[in-house]
Amino acid sequence: MKQLYDPAVRAALARERDGDRFHDECGIFAVHGHPEAAHLTYLGLYALQHRGQESCGIAASSGREHTVHRAMGLVADNFSEKVLKRLPGRHAVGHVRYSTAGDSVLRNAQPFCATTDDGPVALAHNGNLVNAGAIRAELEGRGSILTSTSDSEVVVHLLARSRERTPEDRLIDALSRVKGAYSLAMLTGDALIAARDPFGFRPLVLGRLDNAWILASETCALDLIGAEYERDVEPGEVAVIRRGRLRTLRPFPKAPRQAFCIFEHIYFARPDSSLSGHNVYHFRKELGRVLAREHPVPADMVVPVLDSGNAAALGYAEESGIPYETALVRNQYVKRTFIEPSQSVRDFRVKIKHNASRGLVAGKRVVLVEDSIVRGTTLLKLVGLIRAAGATAVHVRVSSPPNTGPCHYGIDTPTREELIAHRHSTDEIRKILGCDTLGYLSLDGLRRAAQLLKHGICDACFSDAYPIPVDGADDAPQLSLFHTVEVDADDEDARSNG
Ligand code: SF4
Repeated sequence: MKQLYDPAVRAALARERDGDRFHDECGIFAVHGHPEAAHLTYLGLYALQHRGQESCGIAASSGREHTVHRAMGLVADNFSEKVLKRLPGRHAVGHVRYSTAGDSVLRNAQPFCATTDDGPVALAHNGNLVNAGAIRAELEGRGSILTSTSDSEVVVHLLARSRERTPEDRLIDALSRVKGAYSLAMLTGDALIAARDPFGFRPLVLGRLDNAWILASETCALDLIGAEYERDVEPGEVAVIRRGRLRTLRPFPKAPRQAFCIFEHIYFARPDSSLSGHNVYHFRKELGRVLAREHPVPADMVVPVLDSGNAAALGYAEESGIPYETALVRNQYVKRTFIEPSQSVRDFRVKIKHNASRGLVAGKRVVLVEDSIVRGTTLLKLVGLIRAAGATAVHVRVSSPPNTGPCHYGIDTPTREELIAHRHSTDEIRKILGCDTLGYLSLDGLRRAAQLLKHGICDACFSDAYPIPVDGADDAPQLSLFHTVEVDADDEDARSNG
């Protein structure tokens, strides 16, 4: 048995615990022009921890030199005052990463660092490149040695090989060869460069703190350090911040439409964040209201699956007039106290994590609200808990349409075959979950609600309408010079000098 304070064990358990969910793969945060750049980045990553728990890293620039610290596990476990003091400079970029089980290793941790003819660069990427495999094969065919299995490293190699003269032109050159989703921040010796793909899949915002510029995946990270939200980095924009001044470039052809990931609004982003200027919590409540209109049912209480169903359950309760009750209770201290048993882990974890309040649900009809169903394993157990606590009926309501397809744009999802809604009809899922009725938000209902957001969305994992085809995205890139990527050692600072 290993105790949970072992960071590797905690990360593995986080994966196991959340195996019935889609996962954001990354969060990024960066600072330009502040004497405490690394400290602020540490705080920003802390606020973005929900976007990735497997590894974390910060690279800081003192002008001519970059220093980087990367490690497996959570931000709080890996950045002490001592470590932060060894990351000097007025500019910094940081990254948190969630990964699939097979590639949970330090060499995939970001920021990725490299030395180019112009000096050092450190790059943090959120998203997924659909033609990374083809570019990787091309790079390796020309003798490049890629040190990670992450598609983000491909961008670093491309820009290190570019013959363009400035860091921003090198980055643009590299990005013009990739397809897919990217919101990224790149630190050079004296500049911070932000870029967002033309479809705008993943969020990226600009903020100000005194005279410093801040970049973050979500506004909740700006809030934590007291920075003011300035604006979103626009789809297709490359923003270059040098000597305190922001310059905007639009080097890429316009995408046919914007395709902001609707799952960021439904589940991934923190409810206190705003995405494209729209409060996440309010949108989730609105989905609950639409759900109540689409799937009304006589009941005594509306109960959220904590915390993912909270806002939608409130919206459902307000619209239906049925009282909202937190009748499912979650043990907040599980992560720190119990020792992993070797047998029957899955069942044990659900029972130790949730309990249904018998005093509330006994003899009552319950509407249980969740934001999505991936495999259905968690809901199956929660429905059983509520029934065992004496509920006379359990009606499950889901504030998104059935998940029928995987994501190719930066979200860790099971295969199509593992998605319960791909293999079963709604009525079959109802029988599997053991609930009395099951109602999903319709795709039409989601799209109508999304009109409030006033930006185009990607809803491909519900609709199969993928904005960028994955097949046929394998154009071979034109490559030039190669420069070595420097990799830092386990739990130690490494220096790449410029
Ligand atoms: Fe988001 Fe789904 Fe589109 Fe992926 S496929 S970007 S999870 S909406």
